[in-house]
Amino acid sequence: MCRVLLLLISGLASLSAWAIDLPEHQPTPGGVAIVDVGAAESASAPHILREKKRVAVVEQDGRWLAVVGIPLSAKPGEAQLSVKGSDKTFSYTVIGKDYPEQRLRIKNTNKVNPDKSAQARIKSERSRKWRAKNHFRALAAPDFSMQLPVQGPYSSRFGLKRFFNDQPRRPHGGLDIAAPRHTPIHAPAAGVVVEAKDFFFSGNCVFIDHGQGLTSFYAHMTDIAVEIGQVVKEGDLLGTVGDTGRVTGPHLHWSIGLNGTWVDPSLFLPETDRPADAP
Ligand code: ZN
Repeated sequence: MCRVLLLLISGLASLSAWAIDLPEHQPTPGGVAIVDVGAAESASAPHILREKKRVAVVEQDGRWLAVVGIPLSAKPGEAQLSVKGSDKTFSYTVIGKDYPEQRLRIKNTNKVNPDKSAQARIKSERSRKWRAKNHFRALAAPDFSMQLPVQGPYSSRFGLKRFFNDQPRRPHGGLDIAAPRHTPIHAPAAGVVVEAKDFFFSGNCVFIDHGQGLTSFYAHMTDIAVEIGQVVKEGDLLGTVGDTGRVTGPHLHWSIGLNGTWVDPSLFLPETDRPADAP
């Protein structure tokens, strides 16, 4: 479902404008900041950068709004956006947020401390994943409003500080939804498949480019039902839930990326689907 609302403005001459469903403004590490970057006087959006990465910019009510992904590693305080080819800047404030710890026990210790051959594989996969996560496809406005790709209880929240077999690892960059093996996974919004492959940690996984640097990622699948380059509509089958890669059991790991950084998927969901203790 393309969740854009048609606003009809009645008057002598009937005008119409599109209002976009934006993610929730939550300027915390791992959150999203909506920043006004000026009046939408020109036909093309300004080229806004956050630390050299292009940021999504959409028009709403005659203003250009930057939809900025804030990395989990961001420090609280004032942060800057720059404009390509200009010395103009825009600032926004990052509010601190403390995420809880999570300790997991992984039976396959090679998935925690990979051997030499696995390390070479991980290195080559890292650059492929980086490219998929950093895809930027020009589009007037991506569909920011996501539907849940799988129905099921949330088993791990976004942002948890993770320890595998008591060893610290990167924080959790997605939302885990527990579901039985072979449960269908559906595209939460329209896009193009930019990666579909078996990766060492992520198992069988898929990346979708939704446009303007909005990406999504699905990991630990049993089967992949799409190919690289395939155009998907909201609701299309991507594959099925599994337990491939580094896991403790079958679930979908679902991530949302903005300007090359993972942000909390719950900010893109309808309020009724957000985890109960979501901020
Ligand atoms: Zn996960």
